[in-house]
Amino acid sequence: MLDSKPLLIVREFPALARAELQTLQVNLGYLCNLSCTHCHVNAGPKRTELMDRATIELVLDVLKIRNVKTLDLTGGAPEMNPHFRYLVTEARKLGVEVIDRCNLTILLEAGYEDLAQFLADEGVNVAASLPCYTQDNVDKQRGKGVYDASIEGLLKLNKLGYGMAGSGLSLDLVYNPGGPFLPPAQAALQADYKVRLREDWAIEFNELHTITNMPISRFGSMLMSKGQFNEYMQLLIDNFQPQNLATVMCRTTVSVDYLGNLYDCDFNQMLAMPIQQGAQPRQLQDLLGTDLQGEAIVVAGHCFGCTAGQGSSCGGAL
Ligand code: SF4
Ligand code: SF4
Repeated sequence: MLDSKPLLIVREFPALARAELQTLQVNLGYLCNLSCTHCHVNAGPKRTELMDRATIELVLDVLKIRNVKTLDLTGGAPEMNPHFRYLVTEARKLGVEVIDRCNLTILLEAGYEDLAQFLADEGVNVAASLPCYTQDNVDKQRGKGVYDASIEGLLKLNKLGYGMAGSGLSLDLVYNPGGPFLPPAQAALQADYKVRLREDWAIEFNELHTITNMPISRFGSMLMSKGQFNEYMQLLIDNFQPQNLATVMCRTTVSVDYLGNLYDCDFNQMLAMPIQQGAQPRQLQDLLGTDLQGEAIVVAGHCFGCTAGQGSSCGGAL
């Protein structure tokens, strides 16, 4: 795989500082039942890196001590970490909102048949990738058969009340472009998704979040191998919107890798650009003493992906 990091760190980006910590985004490991072409963590069924129980306990301590509002669980398929259910249950006991970044197909895998019921019982919000509402595009990006499995997963969640008015169970869908272009306007695409999924499958969901593809990891490598890297970077730079700087997710989120190292976001995590104190990378324990407010955020060329056009974050457009 080609590494886009050397091409990104030479780019200048406006300075950013951290605000009050609100969200802990925890990567529970790189194990996943899928291997999508756009995956920025290069996750897959053969990855063995998983967060251990001691680090999970530290996550819970930080949630408690820092009064964190939201625990955002990612992977890989976060549900494949053997401590996933323990972490969710304990975080919910603390009154923390929990988001499960779910690829939908995991809900149908052998051994995970009761996962959807567990999520509903714990009141976990589900953010599910569905990069398009057409079968061709989804299967191209995520693998053959993924579209059908995703629809089945969504129907399973709907049956439990997810995405239904008044249920309190939130089901958001996540869209990312199938190539080197910016996402369309979020509100208009959400309206299209609602109509198509309702008419074709009687599926309901809450919000659609559009996310810009980052020129890193597997997608960055694909751009480089096709000679499209510079063109895509220029697209991001040409669409820079300074007003998005105030709301980029790194201002209020800390990203944690499976070993407990801290990053300003998931993308910096994948680029191995940790939050540092002097020459030392910061660790989860550090959050027991400080929420890092006021500290400088580690920025580089990929940050233009968060500020282009309508802006982009794990919660969609800014
Ligand atoms: S489902 Fe998500 S984590 Fe798994 S390979 Fe696809 S993009 Fe990566
Ligand atoms: S990539 Fe986005 S979220 Fe990450 S540090 Fe840059 S601006 Fe912040």
